[in-house]
Amino acid sequence: MTLIIAEPAPVLSGAAAEPLVDAKGLYKRFASTDILRGIDLTIRKSEVLCIIGPSGSGKSTLLRCLAGLETYDHGEVRIEGQLLGYTERGGKRVRATASELQHTRRNVGMVFQQFNLWPHMTVLGNVMEALQRVRGFPKAKAAAQAGRMLELVGLSGKADAYPSRLSGGQQQRVAIARALAMEPHIMLFDEPTSALDPELVGEVLQVMKQLARDGMTMAVVTHEMGFAAQVADTVAFIDAGRITVSGPPRQVFRESKNPRLTQFLQNYLDRNAFWSGDGA
Ligand code: ADP
Ligand code: MG
Repeated sequence: MTLIIAEPAPVLSGAAAEPLVDAKGLYKRFASTDILRGIDLTIRKSEVLCIIGPSGSGKSTLLRCLAGLETYDHGEVRIEGQLLGYTERGGKRVRATASELQHTRRNVGMVFQQFNLWPHMTVLGNVMEALQRVRGFPKAKAAAQAGRMLELVGLSGKADAYPSRLSGGQQQRVAIARALAMEPHIMLFDEPTSALDPELVGEVLQVMKQLARDGMTMAVVTHEMGFAAQVADTVAFIDAGRITVSGPPRQVFRESKNPRLTQFLQNYLDRNAFWSGDGA
């Protein structure tokens, strides 16, 4: 294991140029199975990275490692220059304490496939909850901030509704508002539209597109190839725990000759071909 020395993020000069996320040789094993096998990736301010790849290739594990929700075995992840999950004590790399980890990951927001809203809280309450509990906001300040976030995702009118009265698309937009309320510097999305009925996918992608336009830094695991083609600055294809193709959308979707990627994308093309062959 490489010895990594944790340094505080630079405060003044150079801070702006620091990548928001910088992973080098990220390696993750579950039991005796290698899941991530040396991932290098850099996400800079306002950049949108879309991660594509077959089921089981390690996409969720990668995002969870970047969010500090999962430990990793080798390599390093830095968030705004700060080593995530480990710290340096007496010349050795040791696991960070819970509060050190929490501090390093405080500016990372995450949205999951399942929205995980509290059923017993209103929409506004769901968005306020972490602001009060984690940030210690007084109630009125949390409510004001939560209200602004609901406006951003187009759900001001649902503030007093309970999640069960909302469509899946609306619930996912609440989950996005809840993450945004913490004022993250980067948002990680793990297949945010995969649990939705097809007709509800668009409204969530629309919110994400707007976020990207507003300059939010984002990493998005997605099967929405159209979204990736349109919004990503970089598309990374992950296959069996490695990023095997990475580049601007045109390069990845049109120009790459990588056989695994070609085969993967073919599934999407075949599906389209099926429907147009239907005469519809
Ligand atoms: P993807 O999101 O690309 O579908 P995942 O990152 O969820 O892939 O999973 C990658 C591999 O890691 C899969 O083989 C999965 O079974 C395994 N895996 C994921 N989480 C765990 C875990 N907590 N314990 C053991 N194996 C896991
Ligand atoms: Mg997954």
